[in-house]
Amino acid sequence: MEQATDTSIRSIKAEILCVGTELLLGDIVNTNAAFIARELARIGVNVYHQSVVGDNPGRLKEALSAALERCDLVVTTGGLGPTYDDLTKETVAQLFGLPMERNEESLSSIQAFFDKVGRPMTENNKKQALLPKGAYPLQNRNGTAPGVIVRQQDTGKMVVMLPGPPREMQPMFTQQVTPYLLKLTHSTLVSRTIHIFGMGESQVEATLRPLMEASRNPTVAPYAKEGEVQLRVTAGAATQEQARALIDPVVKRICDTLGDVVYGVDVGTLQGAVVQAYAAKGIKLATAESCTGGLVSKRITEIAGSSAVFDCGVCSYANEIKHKVLGVQQETLERYGAVSEQTALEMARGVRKLAGAQVGVSTTGIAGPGGGSAEKPVGLVYVAADWGEGSQVLQLHLSRNYPDERELIRHLAASHALHLALRAADHF
Ligand code: ATP
Ligand code: MG
Repeated sequence: MEQATDTSIRSIKAEILCVGTELLLGDIVNTNAAFIARELARIGVNVYHQSVVGDNPGRLKEALSAALERCDLVVTTGGLGPTYDDLTKETVAQLFGLPMERNEESLSSIQAFFDKVGRPMTENNKKQALLPKGAYPLQNRNGTAPGVIVRQQDTGKMVVMLPGPPREMQPMFTQQVTPYLLKLTHSTLVSRTIHIFGMGESQVEATLRPLMEASRNPTVAPYAKEGEVQLRVTAGAATQEQARALIDPVVKRICDTLGDVVYGVDVGTLQGAVVQAYAAKGIKLATAESCTGGLVSKRITEIAGSSAVFDCGVCSYANEIKHKVLGVQQETLERYGAVSEQTALEMARGVRKLAGAQVGVSTTGIAGPGGGSAEKPVGLVYVAADWGEGSQVLQLHLSRNYPDERELIRHLAASHALHLALRAADHF
């Protein structure tokens, strides 16, 4: 039973066909194909071809029939609008030998859209409510052109037609097309996300390549953003339990393979993982920030329930405050400078004592663009954690030599501090 339903979504061969002369001319980038390919991969549908065709009826017909010849599912974008060059629906209807019929549901939602934006509906807008007979309309909540799903009775082959503008197409896909395909194949989908810090995307991919290539259900997809990597592990099966049973061993294998760089599964964010870990242990964290100017405490307090673990953050931008409020020794500041291991450690210890917390973390560094020197260049950051029984300090070089990288350096510094705070909780 599991096998049968599982193969059905995974046996679908799909083609993405984007319609638009502006795509052929290179005036716009085909982000729709990338989005749809990714979404289909996520639910286990195999995309075998992607193609682009201009707004030309003859070549559109040719491209559509070639796609239907070699695939079970063709997803098109573009050419659904009200103008004369919007031909996709008519062409599909012709190919399937279906007449065009007015769809009342679509007509009233188009009317509702014009009411909402306060514009009159014109005759050619009504054309958009004409759908191939028996088609399944997809509501467009961000525009007028409804999407359409048409299935050929005898072969079961399917064409899903979506509007061109990404902000109309994307929600239509995730909110309506994905559930339709899952329901049709009696599948449910379960995802788990593995959060990684301290290993780049390419290294994660290189380490897991054999596993990722071998794994079709679940699929493993990496997403990188601002110094972090997430792996989304997704399985399709007839029930949630069956999907979980497919996912869990793969998640475990990945965590075992990657080791320490995995900071959590389904924890949302680094700060979410910190709050969760501290709450579970009943301990508190305090922050002393220089170059991050409060970013660490901002990210912690983004998390609902953070008040259980966080009482105090000091934004000690000036040396005087590092000394007066946090108790960093004048001698340390003079001898090693504000951006140094020693200052970072004294800041972390100072704020821990000031707040009466179990752990203190600190950041001090040079975010740029000015203020760097040969000895202490832009991007040099120290982050430290102090937990009473022990402490740890990291020297980081966060510059990537990008222009305007001040924000990135500050964000990465805050992430490292959060990660250090998470590791420090292991001592309790
Ligand atoms: P409309 O009602 O706006 O005419 P439509 O469904 O007919 O919608 P098109 O006319 O083909 O769609 O495209 C409308 C706009 O959507 C394009 O000008 C472009 O900005 C965007 N667009 C279309 N196709 C793509 C694509 N493949 N990738 C990214 N953007 C696209
Ligand atoms: Mg158009």
